[in-house]
Amino acid sequence: MKLIFLGPPGAGKGTQAERIAERYEIAHISTGDMLRGEIRNATPLGAAAKAYLDRGELVPDSVIIDMVKDRIQREDSKYGFLLDGFPRTVVQAEALAGFTDIDFAVNIDVPFERLVARISGRRMCPDCGAAYHVSTYTAATCSKCGAALYQRDDDKEETVANRLKVYTEKTAPLIAYYENKGKLFTVNGDADIDAVTNEIVKGLDA
Ligand code: AMP
Repeated sequence: MKLIFLGPPGAGKGTQAERIAERYEIAHISTGDMLRGEIRNATPLGAAAKAYLDRGELVPDSVIIDMVKDRIQREDSKYGFLLDGFPRTVVQAEALAGFTDIDFAVNIDVPFERLVARISGRRMCPDCGAAYHVSTYTAATCSKCGAALYQRDDDKEETVANRLKVYTEKTAPLIAYYENKGKLFTVNGDADIDAVTNEIVKGLDA
């Protein structure tokens, strides 16, 4: 199974992607996590990407397309994969179609006015990538691996507005793009985490 997860920042893509990838035993490929890993490891790619992430802008298409093309050739993607955060532009979607066929694009729909609160309350684990929200989790450390949680720089208020603008302009058109290909499947992301997972599973199994 080859899946794409679409949705605005704060829709819960990462959380759902992790659960779905585990359930179907496919690789979870998050381009945001990959880029943050490159930045943490101070690689040339990380150095080039950092300024884009800090401003809430998209990394250039050519960079991200090469990164994903490479990544899905790894052994763990042999039985399928879930792309979380890619494609984010029509150029990326067309490049993807040139090197693989995806089965479904799952669109996690959340009303725009809910997103800022969801993003600004998010806290991340630097080691295992787990995400929490301050409204439901008040501990300072990760429940899975014990690392100290942090707030992503680009989850701070000054960057969030730009990320939402970039989403609307560059990524939202992918909803129509995959709908026209008959591959889109939209779920209501404004529900509790288990309910959203169940809706995705029900749709995929059907
Ligand atoms: P995310 O963790 O998916 O919210 O991504 C964090 C940031 O990484 C984005 O705001 C972009 O700067 C960059 N990024 C992640 N995926 C892509 C992509 N497919 N194309 C361009 N930039 C990306």
